[in-house]
Amino acid sequence: MANIVIDRVRKSFGAFQALKEVSLTINDGEFVSLLGPSGCGKTTLLRIIAGLETASGGDVRIGDKSVLGLAPRDRGLAMVFQNYAVFPHMTVYENVAFGLRMQKADEARIKAQVEKAAGLLHIEQYLDRYPNKLSGGQRQRVAVARALAVEPKVLLMDEPLSNLDALLRLEMRTELKTVLQSAGTTTIYVTHDQTEAMGLSDRIAVMHGGIVEQVGSPVDVYNHPATRFVGGFIGNPPMNFIKVPVLNGQVSAGIEQLNAPQEAGREIILGLRGEAVELAGLPEGLEMKVRVAEPMGSHLLLTGSIHDQPVRVILPASETVGSGDTIGLKLDRKRITWLSPESGQSFP
Ligand code: ATP
Repeated sequence: MANIVIDRVRKSFGAFQALKEVSLTINDGEFVSLLGPSGCGKTTLLRIIAGLETASGGDVRIGDKSVLGLAPRDRGLAMVFQNYAVFPHMTVYENVAFGLRMQKADEARIKAQVEKAAGLLHIEQYLDRYPNKLSGGQRQRVAVARALAVEPKVLLMDEPLSNLDALLRLEMRTELKTVLQSAGTTTIYVTHDQTEAMGLSDRIAVMHGGIVEQVGSPVDVYNHPATRFVGGFIGNPPMNFIKVPVLNGQVSAGIEQLNAPQEAGREIILGLRGEAVELAGLPEGLEMKVRVAEPMGSHLLLTGSIHDQPVRVILPASETVGSGDTIGLKLDRKRITWLSPESGQSFP
């Protein structure tokens, strides 16, 4: 079993707490992303799991065994880091074969595994080259192939696709997902790219300021963000947050009355996904002033305001709304997230 338990891990650099107290369990064969903005502590956490950084407190267990006392190479994991250098004095073939040679695999198995990994990463044609004759993206693919070639039980990756152009990145993402799923590899994947995390992960741990704010499936964190930070970080456009008055336990949205949570005070934040609306007339719908209408081909993106607060909504491409229009919106009440204006936490 290669489950990973991160148990109340803390890390300070001097007086600065990079990780406050992080607990997270990654199940055997699961793909979990650590997602968050720059500086939130995701790389630090990954480096602690890998053994490249020491924790200030807490424990990390792999397969129910504490690994904090073990050197990186004894932890039974493979790693791909953003700038994880490939060996410049070895050909691509030898780079990819490296881990297998360390394991003293026989030549036939090495050849088979190198060819398989190279095929997946589309680097077959570079096997005889040296890394200085490759582009940054090609080198990055060599690093990923080298990690996959040993068929590790646990794989740690830190922004492994960051040097690829958008199209190749999308292709690699799909390939990675297929490969790791079929191999049953337990994977922790660090990224600040929410689309990548959404597409790849079984679950996402959203990090912010040295803590995990929420852990859940991509659909769960998207539809039910635990905090304002999560709703604003995930989704493109991000979730809209509109502060609205609560009267007799209800919030008006055009002619519709929405039931606010019982714990609500006099004001509440209505969290609304941009696509959870339909065009309705006025005064039936909730009034939105459209500042800019952008036809995106697949949909129509509207930027403007509701109750004088900035919002972005998405309508079907077939709707005809122009910049400067005032429109009415019907809200999909099942898709509303209510949040506390004070704490920024969502109501259950
Ligand atoms: P990025 O996406 O930019 O890599 P991150 O979420 O991975 O960000 P970390 O690299 O884990 O962030 O860093 C977390 C915080 O700890 C940052 O504020 C960083 O400046 C700080 N930090 C990291 N390593 C050290 C160090 N060796 N000494 C001092 N501070 C550090």
